[in-house]
Amino acid sequence: MRPPAVLAFGLGLVLLLAGCGDHARNLSQAGGPPPAASAPPVPKPTASPRPTGSAPPKPRLRPLPTTLPAGLRRTTGERAVALTFDDGPDPRWTPRILDQLRAARVTATFCLVGRQARRYPALVVRIVREGHQLCNHSWRHDMDLGRRPVAEIRADLVRTDRAIHAAVPNARIPYYRQPGGRWTPEVVAVARQLGMRSLHWSVDPQDWDHPPAKTIIQRVESAVRPGAIVLMHDGGGDRRATLAACQRLIPELKRRYGISRLR
Ligand SMILES: [Zn+2]
Repeated sequence: MRPPAVLAFGLGLVLLLAGCGDHARNLSQAGGPPPAASAPPVPKPTASPRPTGSAPPKPRLRPLPTTLPAGLRRTTGERAVALTFDDGPDPRWTPRILDQLRAARVTATFCLVGRQARRYPALVVRIVREGHQLCNHSWRHDMDLGRRPVAEIRADLVRTDRAIHAAVPNARIPYYRQPGGRWTPEVVAVARQLGMRSLHWSVDPQDWDHPPAKTIIQRVESAVRPGAIVLMHDGGGDRRATLAACQRLIPELKRRYGISRLR
């Protein structure tokens, strides 16, 4: 009876793996079931209102390049490392990250989701007031934004900048970071046209996946080098492990390399 049991376990594992992670989730969204081969439609009486079919068809997504496009910033250009916090502002986590940064007398870059910035403008004000750098992280964290028509990319980035400027009118937003790191040359070009450099990273502890703080610390410690740009999250989910990891990582990185604000 062993082989079938092993097979069943293996199959279960494959299904489990296929179901997790942002990448898999997006691929499944992008695909979708093929349209059924159909006979001429027969109108059926129905009591419920239906979509009229007047909406224009969704344009197809551009394919995602297999390698990262040119023009991404991935290091600080000096010995000091930079910390970046994505997916906020979040009323539960962002203030606590800000408290830690202030206590350590260092600054970071916050990659803000536009609709979060619109919802929590006071947090945007505090981020700027305390000397941190700003980064546009799209309106609604659209992982496929870079694959959409250029006009849609531009509208999304402009809308996000406007939400940030509604909170802090003269704030500089020198960076854009593509959700999921799913960059395309088109999104890099639009960001550049809007005055934003494309900000990638060199250290990703995958804290979005909720590993324990100990794991986040180990992943950062083993990958960090002089000039590293470290990706972490202050929004988008339960961030208590990130907070706990930062209690240790911020003083340690400051002592070993220095922590600088991206310029
Ligand atoms: Zn993100």
